[in-house]
Amino acid sequence: MKLYRDQSFIRPDLQAHLYSDRLLGNVRALRGLCRPETKFCAVVKANAYGHGIREIVNILKSGPVDYFAVATFYEALHIHPLIERRRILILEPIHADQPPDQIRMCASAGFDCVLSSLEGLDLACRALEGTKRPLHFHLNVETGMGRCGADPHEASAILTRAANCEALVHAGVFTHFATADEEDLSYAFLQQERFEAFLDAHQLKGRRDLLIHACNSAAAIKMPGAHYDMVRCGISMYGYYSRRMKNPPVELRPVLKLQAPITRIKRIAAGHPVSYGGSFVPKRETKAGIVPLGYADGYRRGFSNKAVMRRGEHFVPVIGRVCMDQLIVDLTDVPDADAGQMVTVIDDAHDSPCGAYALADLADTICYEILTLIHAHVNRIVHSTSRP
Ligand SMILES: *Cc1c(COP(=O)(O)O)cnc(C)c1O
Repeated sequence: MKLYRDQSFIRPDLQAHLYSDRLLGNVRALRGLCRPETKFCAVVKANAYGHGIREIVNILKSGPVDYFAVATFYEALHIHPLIERRRILILEPIHADQPPDQIRMCASAGFDCVLSSLEGLDLACRALEGTKRPLHFHLNVETGMGRCGADPHEASAILTRAANCEALVHAGVFTHFATADEEDLSYAFLQQERFEAFLDAHQLKGRRDLLIHACNSAAAIKMPGAHYDMVRCGISMYGYYSRRMKNPPVELRPVLKLQAPITRIKRIAAGHPVSYGGSFVPKRETKAGIVPLGYADGYRRGFSNKAVMRRGEHFVPVIGRVCMDQLIVDLTDVPDADAGQMVTVIDDAHDSPCGAYALADLADTICYEILTLIHAHVNRIVHSTSRP
């Protein structure tokens, strides 16, 4: 039995099933919203939104993907051996305390980096003195996200100064929308206007050597006028709209189904409290199933006494507190439920009571967080099709 993968410990009994046909289908569907020449950047940060970065990159590299985006230098290093000639964009801007070695490695490995400050630029330029391969950079322009973009004034200064640094190649310019997932897109369109103003002021549009990009998933789906040269899709690629969407213009299908086994059936007498704190007291004799999954695996403690799991066609309540590595489900109404069977923890259907949207609602969060919490030690199993 395999317990290790690349030296890291895995739990074979906790299974994240990944359907590659769905992943590739989602990419094709999203591309279908764009002009044929629009590039597709697959966002695989945060362990590919909890799906498993190695597995996801291995599937995508045979698909219509031009770029992979990661959050950090370390993730870029991690997937570099896997990607075969595709480009990697590191979203975190080069920052003042970044070791110069890392910047040199980015250049020699051919990673695209982000610049959003003059300090970052100076650091990069100094670090690259005397190196052979130039560093390709994308300028992040602040238009309203209020996170790590450069204000238009500083962004202009970066362009001017970068032109005097031989080791830097201006490869892209982008911005990031703060509210594209909301119904009211007025702020997103205001951001787009500011971005356009910057592009016009520097005559960046129509330059063939530059990649202009702005859209995350929600904007790629709802703001076709902002596609520019590339869209950067994360959550939609994994099969979810940033939030539940009525009449979406594109059909996405969840890529992941998380399952765990029932290891033991236990009879609990009516009135006998269940798990830490005795927060659940059954009113009837209860057929309880023990599932070796808990908050340490990414299943939130806040789901205690609220969430359900799926056993076959039945949805079974999680009773009592979710523990670190165990929880209890009520199987009383599922006569054929037995030890050794699997329960579905995160379902692969949008409308499932244990789908990522429903779990996000229970925890007052977004489906992104539910997915990214899935621990790296969960065993990822790749299937070519969701209909075996
Ligand atoms: C995470 C991220 C994305 C992807 O966002 P989704 O909503 O998951 O599509 C795109 N661009 C940037 C800059 C990001 O940080």
